[in-house]
Amino acid sequence: MNVKKYVLIIGIVILFILSVCSLYYINQYNDSKKVAFILPHADDETIGVGGIISKLIDKGYKLHFDLMTSGNSLAPKLRIVDNYYHASIPNNANGSDRKRIIREDSFKQVMKVINISDYKLHGIDDGTLNSDEVFSVMEDLYLKEGYKTFYTTTGDGNPDHNACHQAMKRMQEKYPDLEYRQFPVYYYHQQQASPEPLNFKYDDVDVNNYSNTKKEMFQVYYNINTLLPSFYPRSDGVISFSPERIYYSTESLVELK
Ligand SMILES: [Zn+2]
Repeated sequence: MNVKKYVLIIGIVILFILSVCSLYYINQYNDSKKVAFILPHADDETIGVGGIISKLIDKGYKLHFDLMTSGNSLAPKLRIVDNYYHASIPNNANGSDRKRIIREDSFKQVMKVINISDYKLHGIDDGTLNSDEVFSVMEDLYLKEGYKTFYTTTGDGNPDHNACHQAMKRMQEKYPDLEYRQFPVYYYHQQQASPEPLNFKYDDVDVNNYSNTKKEMFQVYYNINTLLPSFYPRSDGVISFSPERIYYSTESLVELK
């Protein structure tokens, strides 16, 4: 074999190794830019992290949303929803079906506002979510799709929020090296209340630059009447400045720096 052949073979081998390395690098890079939001109800994302979602999108992160419940509860204190967006409702739909269809549709409207198509609706009955269901969604996102950064609600007494909080706690026990973040949904109007995060370290993230998008997201829920501007006074169409609180257990909120 002459020298030219040797050089050619060595060259091909080096090129092969380089291309495998670069593919690996690209995958790693993409995974580090992936963030998953696990939501108990349609509106938790807007109330808790409407601005942060916009900020992450702006910084080039790839967001995925899992909406766990359908928000179909007809408990008396929960508001009656309006079919503002003319979602298609079958004639034989009962009150709970009607509410599920409208609330899931409102979530899709919000996803349109932020240009997100990567979401999944699980349609579990409002108030019945358990941590096994949430844990398996989170574990699959990590093991099968490479997500390493997760956001969900704090525990705060609401059974569905508690289920998400418990699931994240189990994830952290099993996979301590992933990034876990929690947002208190009721921060706006119940700052005295004590939400239960995994860890009490928190940042109040300035999201003023994103107040317009946040207003648009809120407007969807005002339109169908699940939210009242007076209930979320810092987030309505008139005044939309407020930091968003994030509890986290790792070194820093790397994706928000
Ligand atoms: Zn909720």
